[in-house]
Amino acid sequence: MKTSHYGPCSLYCGACGATDCGGCQSDRIDKSIEKCKFRRCSKEKGLEFCCFCGEYPCKELHTFMTDKWPHHWTMEPNLTFIKEHGKKAWLEAQERQWSCADCGARIMWYQKECPCGFSLDAWPVPD
Ligand code: SF4
Ligand code: SF4
Ligand SMILES: [Zn+2]
Repeated sequence: MKTSHYGPCSLYCGACGATDCGGCQSDRIDKSIEKCKFRRCSKEKGLEFCCFCGEYPCKELHTFMTDKWPHHWTMEPNLTFIKEHGKKAWLEAQERQWSCADCGARIMWYQKECPCGFSLDAWPVPD
């Protein structure tokens, strides 16, 4: 169960299937997240999201958002949306996007089918 639904990088933890993590800003995160540069750096700068940083997108963030993982490709449009419309509207839109269109259940990145049987338009998992 996630208690934090997003990171400053704008990854939507609400659609992350990792069961051992409560979300980027929860108190139940693993060691790799503790070491995340985006999380630490934005906190040091007092920024809720990287799009409010004068260096956005810094080299590391740009590399991360354009790597082989399709869920990382959501970050650029997410951060643009947040800058234009704010966090509240973004979270509402994410909640809609990551819910089954048929039964409303929460769905995760890369999930191919909802437990209700509805087929989902999932990204392929990269090699
Ligand atoms: S990549 Fe870093 S900032 Fe983004 S959700 Fe994961 S831990 Fe948080
Ligand atoms: S965009 Fe700015 S706040 Fe975010 S990780 Fe890069 S330097 Fe830090
Ligand atoms: Zn469903």
